[in-house]
Amino acid sequence: MEFQDHRYWLRTHPNCIVGKELVNWLIRNGHIATRAQAIAIGQAMVDGRWLDCVSHHDQLFRDEYALYRPLQSTEFSETPSPDSDSVNSVEGHSEPSWFKDIKFDDSDTEQIAEEGDDNLAKYLISDTGGQQLSISDAFIKESLFNRRVEEKSKELPFTPLGWHHNNLELLREENGEKQAMERLLSANHNHMMALLQQLLHSDSLSSSWRDIIVSLVCQVVQTVRPDVKNQDDDMDIRQFVHIKKIPGGKKFDSVVVNGFVCTKNIAHKKMNSCIKNPKILLLKCSIEYLYREETKFTCIDPIVLQEREFLKNYVQRIVDVRPTLVLVEKTVSRIAQDMLLEHGITLVINVKSQVLERISRMTQGDLVMSMDQLLTKPHLGTCHKFYMQIFQLPNEQTKTLMFFEGCPQHLGCTIKLRGGSDYELARVKEILIFMICVAYHSQLEISFLMDEFAMPPTLMQNPSFHSLIEGRGHEGAVQEQYGGGSIPWDPDIPPESLPCDDSSLLESRIVFEKGEQENKNLPQAVASVKHQEHSTTACPAGLPCAFFAPVPESLLPLPVDDQQDALGSELPESLQQTVVLQDPKSQIRAFRDPLQDDTGLYVTGEVTSSEDKRKTYSLAFKQELKDVILCISPVITFREPFLLTEKGMRCSTRDYFAEQVYWSPLLNKEFKEMENRRKKQLLRDLSGLQGMNGSIQAKSIQVLPSHELVSTRIAEHLGDSQSLGRMLADYRARGGRIQPKNSDPFAHSKDASSTSSGKSGSKNEGDEERGLILSDAVWSTKVDCLNPINHQRLCVLFSSSSAQSSNAPSACVSPWIVTMEFYGKNDLTLGIFLERYCFRPSYQCPSMFCDTPMVHHIRRFVHGQGCVQIILKELDSPVPGYQHTILTYSWCRICKQVTPVVALSNESWSMSFAKYLELRFYGHQYTRRANAEPCGHSIHHDYHQYFSYNQMVASFSYSPIRLLEVCVPLPKIFIKRQAPLKVSLLQDLKDFFQKVSQVYVAIDERLASLKTDTFS
Ligand SMILES: [Zn+2]
Ligand SMILES: [Zn+2]
Repeated sequence: MEFQDHRYWLRTHPNCIVGKELVNWLIRNGHIATRAQAIAIGQAMVDGRWLDCVSHHDQLFRDEYALYRPLQSTEFSETPSPDSDSVNSVEGHSEPSWFKDIKFDDSDTEQIAEEGDDNLAKYLISDTGGQQLSISDAFIKESLFNRRVEEKSKELPFTPLGWHHNNLELLREENGEKQAMERLLSANHNHMMALLQQLLHSDSLSSSWRDIIVSLVCQVVQTVRPDVKNQDDDMDIRQFVHIKKIPGGKKFDSVVVNGFVCTKNIAHKKMNSCIKNPKILLLKCSIEYLYREETKFTCIDPIVLQEREFLKNYVQRIVDVRPTLVLVEKTVSRIAQDMLLEHGITLVINVKSQVLERISRMTQGDLVMSMDQLLTKPHLGTCHKFYMQIFQLPNEQTKTLMFFEGCPQHLGCTIKLRGGSDYELARVKEILIFMICVAYHSQLEISFLMDEFAMPPTLMQNPSFHSLIEGRGHEGAVQEQYGGGSIPWDPDIPPESLPCDDSSLLESRIVFEKGEQENKNLPQAVASVKHQEHSTTACPAGLPCAFFAPVPESLLPLPVDDQQDALGSELPESLQQTVVLQDPKSQIRAFRDPLQDDTGLYVTGEVTSSEDKRKTYSLAFKQELKDVILCISPVITFREPFLLTEKGMRCSTRDYFAEQVYWSPLLNKEFKEMENRRKKQLLRDLSGLQGMNGSIQAKSIQVLPSHELVSTRIAEHLGDSQSLGRMLADYRARGGRIQPKNSDPFAHSKDASSTSSGKSGSKNEGDEERGLILSDAVWSTKVDCLNPINHQRLCVLFSSSSAQSSNAPSACVSPWIVTMEFYGKNDLTLGIFLERYCFRPSYQCPSMFCDTPMVHHIRRFVHGQGCVQIILKELDSPVPGYQHTILTYSWCRICKQVTPVVALSNESWSMSFAKYLELRFYGHQYTRRANAEPCGHSIHHDYHQYFSYNQMVASFSYSPIRLLEVCVPLPKIFIKRQAPLKVSLLQDLKDFFQKVSQVYVAIDERLASLKTDTFS
């Protein structure tokens, strides 16, 4: 066997062998008996990097015309050693890009202030609020070593779900555990219900969806559990919940399917379409014969025979691993399909790669990359039952769904969404997936707040009270159809009718757990007495879910209107901020020429001065901000952005922004009404169409009459006839005969209004029409600043510096803005942040000029008017018994109280780091709970929080910052023109005359002296 030049797809590859020939050679020389063994040997050589495949991109050994070249010894030595590989995988794998891409910028020479002396051993608070950097040894000894770690009550049954699944009764009274938990649960419950109501209302959806969504969300967040810690799952639960919308049916047909569902059918109808405990083989390749030697002419017959043989071999390989169901990403040759049918194997082809990956996760089966990999006996996936179901859609079409039911619950699930038109279900789907994220986070947040001994405030503002009332009027009629008041959690039921004390709260939950089964189909149930009882006390679908559990009246939030004002007056003097970080998109849009401002639209009535306009707008904004929910966590409220505050309206940079910096339909009643009408119209029209008979598609397409050129008899030459030439040009210019009709019902009314205004010529109508067009064209591109969906992110100014670094006094990582999307881009879990960027000894400063260990660095996250800084400290020895546990406790910098030391729960570990920062910035209302008299200071602002692991301690502390305003020169520079005085002019003239005569006198004298010198 020798290495030669071979051609592949017009390219010559030197020094290669052909895969098939190597197999032949191995067999011929009697080393092995079967081709399969030869392939295994070949693959081993490729895997061992002895051979490199040059004809294909993947490193697979093929028994066909595939070319392999030997790897050079130099290349061989380049292969990473296992050690370096593992290091890379720790650092490189799933590291968020903002840590990897941290740039070094030496042009920034700004002095980093307040770098403290490392030997400062006490916690000193300077007057400006800046803190020194080190953590005192004595303090650590006192707080960490000399105190026992708080254990959660022993009698609590161990649940992987932590705090929130513990029964309230089992929580201890001491440390205020029970009270805090009750308050958190009620706050979260109220907040989520209000948020859901707000979302449904803003999409003009019937509030009967609410109970459906609540029950689905409850089921999902109780079962699905991303395991970021051990399985390296995505931290976002939404990745594991799949929503399948099937138009038609009833709303309460929407259920959670424990498994995976996709729109697909089996390859052949004779194949078995219902398999119990299937053994699933997932193939990411095709099953077909690819004839490679296209350079030669050969007879077709042997090739056909060859193909059969080849596929028989492939199918045998599949049969050998004994699957009952095979899913293939690409195509499967007809011959192979028939062979698989003969073997009684069900086949599904052309499965999308994403779908394959999801099935692989849900059924725990290996993804097989090539036919050759089959020889390594891959692990087959399984589930309880595989079957197909056909759904009749309202438009007389059918939809075939493939179910993989009965997979491990925590891995994920599918929601089958029914009960509406496609448009309606799409809206509901968006809300549903958002609420799943909200409910999941809420579990984690409650765990975290319990871990850090936080106590929520007593009076909690329910910002959406207003929208609840508003929603009632609109949706009342719809609710009547569903039995009106008998629906649980109907806003019509006054909160007073809810149980008033703790005992009835617990009682109702017990009652409800019993009634769980019977209440599965609650929404359709008739209003019986029993039902009435449940309607006030129980969770919608009978789930013992703590979040949606009823709330004692004593815990119900009271609308506190004064709170906002109180907050407003608290504004520090130093509040000077031009750039509002909350809404980066509107920031970009905000930079517009004030001359081209189109904001006259917003102001109702005759307001003349721009200052008054701004004030009106700011007031409207504040009012809406108070009523709308933007944050998915309770207790957290956002203040209006700086440009809308008194100071902001008058600041010098204000003129550089548009009149309406922030936009929302909520701020423009006309547009809001129009939007609502449009949405309702869409909901009604589409469901009406489907309800009657026709499919929407038939209605939305128009077939034009055929062009006259088609029917014209062409007898002449094209150049001879001008009319023929014109006709042809026209035919070419027209496009196809099938034209989509404009299905947006609003488009027609717009046309109508424009024609009517054209006739009447009335000025008012013209204005209105202009508004309509503008609203469509301009406003559709704007970002709604009062939509909670647009607030699921946090912008922070991140920087890292060290006084001991060679970069000092510059920062190691210059301040730059990081946008962290909650549970999404640039976000990571609190646990990962701590383990990877605080406690990992191998983590180094990203600056290439810095050798200083991370312990001596200080990292800052700045947002709004605050800064969270992280300081590290290495201990002499780890906390005994807790080397591999993250411990946490907090210390009040005002009264020096310390909370008990506890181990960080799994849920807190999985919480979003961005949400943690948000709590530190905005969650100032939380205080500390404990048995000793609690100090009442803010746990997120006044307390330093410590996390320890092994020998490392990380301290997180909040401090207010002083914001400076950008000062720019005036857009116009005025130069005062002063006419010079006559006196000074005369004086100047006199001086000038004197100087001139002096010069002449001097010249005269010189000339006179010259004369005497020369001629004497
Ligand atoms: Zn550094
Ligand atoms: Zn305190």
